[in-house]
Amino acid sequence: MSECRTYRGRIAPTPSGQLHIGHARTFHIAHERARSAAGKLVLRIEDLDSARCKDEYSRQMMADLEWLGIRWDEGPDRCGAFGPYVQSLRIEHYLKAWKRLEEAGVIYPSPHSRKDVELALSAPHEGEGEPVFPVELRPATARRADAPSGMNWRFRVPDGESVRFVDECAGEQEFVAGKDFGDFLVWRKDGWPSYELAVVVDDAEMQISEVVRGADLLLSTARQLLLYKALGWTAPRFFHCPLVRDAEGRRLAKRSAGLSVAKLREEGFSSEKVLALANTRMG
Ligand code: GLU
Repeated sequence: MSECRTYRGRIAPTPSGQLHIGHARTFHIAHERARSAAGKLVLRIEDLDSARCKDEYSRQMMADLEWLGIRWDEGPDRCGAFGPYVQSLRIEHYLKAWKRLEEAGVIYPSPHSRKDVELALSAPHEGEGEPVFPVELRPATARRADAPSGMNWRFRVPDGESVRFVDECAGEQEFVAGKDFGDFLVWRKDGWPSYELAVVVDDAEMQISEVVRGADLLLSTARQLLLYKALGWTAPRFFHCPLVRDAEGRRLAKRSAGLSVAKLREEGFSSEKVLALANTRMG
């Protein structure tokens, strides 16, 4: 879907808290890349986690983005008309993709809880990432369904297959399905798609030619490339920015309030100083 054409980039914040300097840096890079390619930039609000996302955070983010000098060509306007670039308004697009995957026989309903997964794992899981979903919990036969109907659904990964791509920033990448990541969620039992499915559908339909985002999503890109392939769509290019860290070297999170754009603004920082601070904290 995304070969040829003019550059189309996007910024896709999750409105579950305030923007921190890491977001500022990534979104600034996305903005610069779109401008230097004389392309377009889309703002998309990723609000599928309804328990944590709030409209007031979306508004605050948009104000912070504008203060940082980041302008978007398509997406919500400042008057509160969030429109079609808000994930919670796009369920029918995600359902179509779910159907396509179901018909292709590459997804299956997965009733297992987090606890079942932990029990089925032979070694205790350590580290930041999700544990690899145990193949023993994968059903042997496919079951047809017309709707996701209150179930978790997972993508059956091709065990042992390498997913390779050349990242425009991080260089050559290789992840092995079934080893670096296992069968992953495409649909949640709360009635919404997973992050992986929603983002692929949106980036494809919004004709994004390059995805700029944080390096914490490199592994997700491997999963997403499998979804593009299964859906028969062409993937965009990827540019994963190095992560910004706090003074102790930890990854920034929404809880890193001291490094939020709003707080630094309040303290009298200029937008240039916020971006300069982010540049000194990469690792
Ligand atoms: N919404 C995600 C976040 O705020 C970004 C997803 C993406 O860029 O693909 O972390």
